[in-house]
Formats: sequence, structure tokens, C-alpha cells
Amino acid sequence: MAWFQKRQYTVIKNVSKPTLVRIGTEGALWESCPNCKELALIETLIKNLRVCPHCSYHMRLSADERIQMLTDPGSFSPMFMDIRPTNPLGFPGYGEKLSSEMAAKEAIQTGRASMDGLPVALGVMEFGFMGGSMGTVVGERVSRLFDHASREKLPVLLVTSSGGARMQEGIFSLMQMAKTAAAVAEYRQSCTRPFVCLLCDPTTGGTTASFAMLGDILIGESGALIGFAGPRVIEQTIRQKLPAGFQRSEFLLEHGFLDLVLPRKDIRPTLTKIFQWV
Ligand SMILES: [Zn+2]
Repeated sequence: MAWFQKRQYTVIKNVSKPTLVRIGTEGALWESCPNCKELALIETLIKNLRVCPHCSYHMRLSADERIQMLTDPGSFSPMFMDIRPTNPLGFPGYGEKLSSEMAAKEAIQTGRASMDGLPVALGVMEFGFMGGSMGTVVGERVSRLFDHASREKLPVLLVTSSGGARMQEGIFSLMQMAKTAAAVAEYRQSCTRPFVCLLCDPTTGGTTASFAMLGDILIGESGALIGFAGPRVIEQTIRQKLPAGFQRSEFLLEHGFLDLVLPRKDIRPTLTKIFQWV
């Protein structure tokens, strides 16, 4: 669990009791849960894969953490990382965001990896970079990943966490929906291996409306928000109160949109079984 320990912590003096957030200096021992606000020992959180021991809230993971959680140590070899974003519409301020350190990885990392020795084509979205939004780079990397998997007869695992299409790229980002959907369709025609999509909190907008919902097997992480428009927008549009748990993984499973909902600790063993079988 070395990946987890690398996170940095600092103590922030709260009015009532000290609260910890994940920035700044090292040495803190506790972190507060964003859901129940209870403090948890960082050591406990490490063992729990960043799931709150009090309320089972699944805290968000970065793409790097996901990769390390899901794959054999050191087995991930990135591909298509030379595809870099541009600012095709000259959107104000977008160019500066793209020059940041995170821009090289963009909102998705794609490559090959192994899970318990089984090779897999893997794509993991990064919500921390511009809300995991799908621009031209995400679309191109996803499409090439499917092409590669089809040539090499590999199963595909996509881990999604996205706010939808990237507004700074306008129509170019919307085109990625058709492009990625076509790539999935071509993969299906030329390869009999499965495409598994693991939908994590949050998976919304154009990502849900394209490749995220096209998996042969759709797995939702416990408590993840999955939908197209957000619940607040829907409530304002239809002027009705939404039912409890609306757009959460469990709700979607109940209504037939997902095949499985899994707590974080069960995800890797289940995926390994799926890739062994098919
Ligand atoms: Zn909690």
C-alpha cells in the first residue's frame, strides 16, 4: 500500500476539534470522512482502500491509485500518452490549464497491465484533471485502446470517473461520443473478449452517454453517482422531488442499468474472475 502512504496531509484547526485534509505537510494521523465527518486513522483508511470505517463511504481515488489498486505491481505500461491536448477553439484560459503538470496524463491513462498475471487493456479516468471531462485526447486514447485490444485479443477494462464532455472543446468533445461508441462496436465485431466498465463516482454526461454504458459487463462501485444530467438539474427541470438514492449505483442496479454493484475490496477479485472465465 505504498501508493496510499505517499499522500500528504496537514492539520487544520477546526472550531471544535482538529480536522485533517489531504494537502500540505506530512505527519498527520487522522483524516475526516467527507460524508459522516467522523475521523478515521489514516492507517485504517490505508487498510480499507480509502473506504470510511464508520459509514462505508467510498472516497475518490486518483487514476494512479486505481491503477495500483487493480493491477499487478509494476505491470502497467502506459500507451498513447504522446497524444496531447490542444486548444482548437482558442477557449480563454484553457491553454494555461493544458500546460499544467497533470496535462500530460490528461483525463485518462491508457495502457496494458496484468491482473493476477492476466493481460488486460486498461483505461482509467482521472477526475482530478478538469473533472475527468472527455475531450479529444480521451476519445482518441479510448479508441486506440480498443483497436490495440482487438489486434492483441485482449479484454478491455475501463474505469470511468467523469463530469461529461469537455465544454472548452465544444463540438470536438461531443464528437468523441460517436467515435468511442464506434470503437466499441468495431471491437465487438473483431474480438470475442469482454469489455468491462467499472463506473466510479461520479460518471456523468457524455461519458455515461457513450462508452461508459456500452460495456458487456457494467459494474458500479458502491455509492457512485452515475447518470447523465445531475440530480439538481433534473429536479429543477421536472419540478419534482427525486427518490432517495436516485442515480446511485444501488438504485441503477435495482432498475436494471448495471450488472453488479461492488464494494471496493471486492472489485479486483471479481474482475480477475471475469477475465479468467471469458
Ligand atoms: Zn464516513
